[in-house]
Amino acid sequence: MRILVTGGAGYIGATAVAILLSKGFEVSVLDDCSTGHKDSIPENVRFIRGSILDSTAIEDALTGCNAVMHFAGKSLVSESVEKPDLYRNVNIEGTRLLLEQMQYMGLKKIVFSSSASTYGDPAISPTPETQIGIPTNPYGESKLAVDEMLARESSVNGISAISLRYFNVAGAININGQWLAERHNPETHLIPMVLRSKPDEPVKIFGTDWPTPDGTCIRDYVHVIDLVDAHVSALNSLDAPSHTIINVGGGIGYSVREVITASSRALGYDIPTVDASRRQGDPAILVADISRAKSLLNWEPVRNLEDMVRDTAHSIHPVR
Ligand code: UDP
Repeated sequence: MRILVTGGAGYIGATAVAILLSKGFEVSVLDDCSTGHKDSIPENVRFIRGSILDSTAIEDALTGCNAVMHFAGKSLVSESVEKPDLYRNVNIEGTRLLLEQMQYMGLKKIVFSSSASTYGDPAISPTPETQIGIPTNPYGESKLAVDEMLARESSVNGISAISLRYFNVAGAININGQWLAERHNPETHLIPMVLRSKPDEPVKIFGTDWPTPDGTCIRDYVHVIDLVDAHVSALNSLDAPSHTIINVGGGIGYSVREVITASSRALGYDIPTVDASRRQGDPAILVADISRAKSLLNWEPVRNLEDMVRDTAHSIHPVR
């Protein structure tokens, strides 16, 4: 079985490629390397360098494939606030073109990278998939629009689709002694920022007056290997025409201060921090209800926050 991994040169996509290969799948990758890295793609993968907005490249990439894992897209909340049209174009129009080409070529199976940001600032926590989404930024809006597109596509054209709603992804995979690192530039995510923190450049804690027990935001973290395992379970469960939304998180909320404490413990030194003002677009609390993933995918995370911190640290500063 051959899987097209769109965005397979990026952090999560490349981890998916590695895990799919290890499980005996054949893999094709479509990536324009705008944020991904070609050196993340193994030689036994069919690589098409092209945009998700280029129908010819999509057609080429889909040739010989049986199903799609769709990771390609823009994924930074702050950038989406500055460039909403870019997010609409790449994330929504790009997926529309992909689905159009899948329909044309008779491909029916897709697992999509959706996001907890579709929920906005949810009233219920842990948040179930039934929660109505009111995104607070264009990134979340674009992911919600694609979820809705997939629902329509399943009823109109009979595709079998699963939207996996990621919470906060961290950690890294080691392949034959090499770490596949997240390489964002600029970096914005909490755990990599914690790892870069130095006394003269301490990590900023964005807001200490949130309505949470210690005043800092609460998030739900999932290891990238656990996340990709959920994709493989989702892929294997695709069958009848349907669209299902499934949360993928740890099911546990950690405040920013708790992440910093766990990181200090995992790394064996005190992380320098400085209190700062709130970051625009952040909800106070985002924690997944993962009961649907457990029941439908027979999946639950097996790696904890300290594993995520340690593996991220290894991938940034390789340890031999
Ligand atoms: N955060 C922080 N300092 C940083 C980066 C992030 O305090 O340097 C906070 C951020 O405000 C949020 C949480 O850490 O409450 C997780 O942020 P991240 O950017 O990792 O993921 P997001 O939840 O935005 O997807």
